[in-house]
Amino acid sequence: ALPTIYLVTPTYARSSQHVDLTRFCYTIRQVPKVHWIVVEDAEVHSPEVRRILNDCEVAFSHLVALTPPRENAQICRKVDSQPRGVKQRNTGLVELRRLLSLNGGRDGVVYFADDDNTYSLEIFERMRHIKAVGVWRVAFVGGLSYEGPVVDMGPNGPRISGWHVAWATDRKYPVDMAAFALNTRLITAQPDVYFPTHALDGHLETDFLSAVVPEGVELEPLGFELDRVLVWHTRTELPNLRQEGKLPPDRRPIII
Ligand code: UDP
Ligand code: MN
Repeated sequence: ALPTIYLVTPTYARSSQHVDLTRFCYTIRQVPKVHWIVVEDAEVHSPEVRRILNDCEVAFSHLVALTPPRENAQICRKVDSQPRGVKQRNTGLVELRRLLSLNGGRDGVVYFADDDNTYSLEIFERMRHIKAVGVWRVAFVGGLSYEGPVVDMGPNGPRISGWHVAWATDRKYPVDMAAFALNTRLITAQPDVYFPTHALDGHLETDFLSAVVPEGVELEPLGFELDRVLVWHTRTELPNLRQEGKLPPDRRPIII
């Protein structure tokens, strides 16, 4: 059977939230065997987010987990306490382990897919067959047009020989959240692995991967034979709502 792709998506309330979730839904509804784990950075479930999920025609889990207030932000500036999306991804991991315990050890992969990035459909078909950890290029991160693994063709197939990266090059795994996916076996076999709640700025991914990638496991580069990227770290510009205050409140409030 085709392995399931579990997508863990943190999301928070802002004027572009429904746009981003709608666009992401329209991408992933074209992908077979997907389970979308959406975790709102909120105290309560948003009925609008729920409606988007209900209408999406993919299997989903709808959860909430509020990011706690930042600790020690002044005392230790180099440590990003509770970076964005961490609490939500960890809640997603709890839900993922629950789903996996129900499905009898069937094959799957997990991808931490932010709501605002842009994803080629091709990346999902490639990540589906990851044996342990897959990595690939992501555009518009680290001050570069793209970051990604440098791949050599060895006698035993492709091997990662370095990284096309300019920022914090001493990271063991110098990758963005959108650059990797994991076989779910790594998640069930290591039930205590979560994202660190404290990480140096920009080191969340490398710290997580250092904890989750078993000793001796080689990363599997995906899409390296292509001369293009399959994922873009895009950001949605917030709309200009400057004139809103000039009008009386709408008689019939419209959800945007
Ligand atoms: N996010 C969140 N709470 C926040 C800020 C962000 O849950 O306070 C989510 C956001 O919806 C996204 C992910 O965390 O899915 C990463 O955030 P963002 O896209 O703002 O990060 P960046 O693009 O700067 O890496
Ligand atoms: Mn983003």
